[in-house]
Parts: sequence; structure tokens; C-alpha cells
Amino acid sequence: MAYRVTLIPGDGTGPELTEATRRVLEATGVAFEWDIQHAGVDIMQEAGTPLPDAVLDSLRRTKVGLKGPITTPVGTGFRSVNVAIRKELDLYACVRPCKLYKGVRTLFAEQKVDLVIVRENTEDLYAGIEFEKGTDEVRELREWLLSKRPKAVIKEPAGISIKPISVPGSERIVRFAFEYARQYGRRKVTAVHKANIMKYSDGLFLEVAREVAKDYPDIEFEDRIVDNMCMQLVQKPELYDVLVLPNLYGDIISDLAAGMVGGLGVAPGGNIGTMGAVFEATHGSAPKYKGLNKVNPTAMILSGVMMLHYLGEHDAANRLERAVAEVVAEGKNVTYDMKPHRDDPTAVGTSQMADAIIRKMQQL
Ligand code: NAD
Repeated sequence: MAYRVTLIPGDGTGPELTEATRRVLEATGVAFEWDIQHAGVDIMQEAGTPLPDAVLDSLRRTKVGLKGPITTPVGTGFRSVNVAIRKELDLYACVRPCKLYKGVRTLFAEQKVDLVIVRENTEDLYAGIEFEKGTDEVRELREWLLSKRPKAVIKEPAGISIKPISVPGSERIVRFAFEYARQYGRRKVTAVHKANIMKYSDGLFLEVAREVAKDYPDIEFEDRIVDNMCMQLVQKPELYDVLVLPNLYGDIISDLAAGMVGGLGVAPGGNIGTMGAVFEATHGSAPKYKGLNKVNPTAMILSGVMMLHYLGEHDAANRLERAVAEVVAEGKNVTYDMKPHRDDPTAVGTSQMADAIIRKMQQL
């Protein structure tokens, strides 16, 4: 039986990256029936929107998507397609494995880094509840706040962003992190917060995390304050395993961790909810390299590895990951960003790196 998967090529370098990934995934021997759906700036003119309904309809049907990066057009009034897909399908967990592969260019080459960042996708300061300086609403809100907290200081003019963190929102993301840890044989979950200062939002997150942890006695649980977490990750990354975080800290720490393991070219991701999942690289559409067969397909292919695991195809996922790791470790058939010098003439293109990964898989 073939897996039905919505394939969204995206724009910029997205189509060449998804094409390389599609070929590599098919070479694992797992059968796919791709439902190709276009979104992004290239179809905006024709469709009148960067996110046609057909894309969401397809994802609702297949429940699994593989997505290339999509440009967020500036000054057109269109919101980010990437955020819209997560919102529409309630993909509440952003999962980013950050694993250091031998041969990757990083300052952390001598360290052991194998982290999974689980970021809450729907709440916190990113919920988009914002009040602009100088408006009537912000004046009303300020007056109301000062009537409730007379000692508070809100200088004028001020903008205000609201940080909602709920019990159900925290519970489902922390439970997701523990379930993930169990499923993938991970030993520890660390909840990251600033509960010492933000008692009613981050404090709630921590309290819920402690309660949920009681249901998983087989997995170690601990918590860290976010600033300390940054220092710890840089100094002792080997101590950490699965991290679960509210949205803003998750955004920052996942980029920190991606930087530790070699940067955007190698950082995969998945957005997962109860209705389904969409897998995509952490990086954007890198439009300046569009059509040049130049950028690194590793992040996108490793997102494909995550998708194979999600589908239960663990053998194929492990074989593909090993093939990627070996090609990267050999350092021969890799893109410019993985060579010691960026203008190295021996760098290969996106599709040639995918070919090398396919050849390696066939040898394994
Ligand atoms: P970007 O990630 O597209 O590119 C930044 C730089 O990183 C590139 O110029 C390139 O040097 C490098 N880079 C990125 N991907 C690479 C790869 N696979 N291999 C080698 N080098 C790579 O970030 P940006 O320029 O800030 O964003 C471009 C567009 O992408 C924006 O419109 C942004 O909104 C969008 N974006 C989309 C997503 C998504 O689809 N999920 C995520 C981030 C940004």
C-alpha cells in the first residue's frame, strides 16, 4: 500500500529541494502517492492567494504533508503561509531534532549534541494578541491594567503584547514531549521556562509539566530556567535530551541548537497535531539561490526521515539517516555550505548530493 502524502513544493529553492527529497524517499523502497499542491508567491497571481483552499483540503485528507519553504511576501497584506497551515490544522507541536553529524562544519564538532526541541506552536507571545502604541485600545487596556495593579509602571507611549499560557495548551505539549521520548527511546525531558519571574504563565507551564511528568515514571524529568538553559546547552550539551518549551523560548532555543549542529542547511523539522503532521526544513526559501541547484538538501531530507518515522517506517528512516550521515561524513558529494571554503570548486549541487545519498542507501 502506498502512503498518500501532500507534497507542497513551495517557492524559491523549495521546488528543487522537495524534488531531491522526493527522489530520495522513493529510493528507500517505501511507496508514496504524492498529492502535489502549490502554495507560495509563484502561484499568488494565478490563485489570488498564496494558500489556496485546495492545499488545506489535501492536508485534511492525507493527514501528512512534506513541505518546501515558502516566502512570506512583504507588503502584500498576506500573512505567512507557514503559520497559516500550522494554525488551520492546529499543528500544536513543533519538533526539531538537533543532532550533530560527523563532518558537519560547527564550533561544536568535538561535543556530543543529540537534542530534540519540542516547541508549543499556538500560545505565548506568538498568539498575536497585540495592542499598538497610540491607539484607543492600548489606552483603555493601560487604564484597566493600572486600575488593577496601581503600582505597575507602563510608560507612555507603549505597545502591549499579551502572553497567554493555558493549562490544556501546556498539558498537551508536555504530554507530547513525554510520548515522543517514550516512542523514540529517549531518557529525559527538560521543561524550560522563566517561572521565577512570570509566575502565572511560565509558572503554570512548569506546574502542569510537573503533574504530567508523574504519569511517566520511566522518563527522567527536570526543569531549567531559560537563561541558564542557554548557557548549559553551550557548555554541556551532552546532558540534555528532549526539551519542551513554550513558544518564544522554543523559537530561540531551537535556532541556538540548530546553530550548534551546523546551521540551517542541516536542521529538519515537523509540525504535528492530533489531525496530522507537516514536515519541513527549518530554513526559509533562500530565494537568491532559486533554480541554481546549489543549496543543501540535508535539512529537507532529514525532515523526510522524520516523516518516515511518523508513518511507522522506522527501518527505511534509519537507513536513510545513515546514508545521509555517511555522505556528510565523507564530505565529498556535499553542497558548498558543507565544504571548508564556500567557493570550493568540488562542491556538488542539490540533486547530485541527493544522488550520492541514494547510491549510499543502495550500498547499505
Ligand atoms: P533563509 O533560510 O531562506 O536563508 C538565509 C540564508 O541561509 C540563505 O541566504 C543561505 O545563505 C542560507 N541557507 C538557507 N537554506 C539553506 C540551505 N538549504 N542550504 C544552504 N544554505 C542555506 O532565510 P531568509 O532569507 O530570512 O528567508 C527567506 C524567505 O523564507 C522569507 O520570505 C521568509 O519569510 C521565508 N521563510 C520560510 C520558512 C518556511 O517556509 N517554513 C521558514 C523561514 C523563513
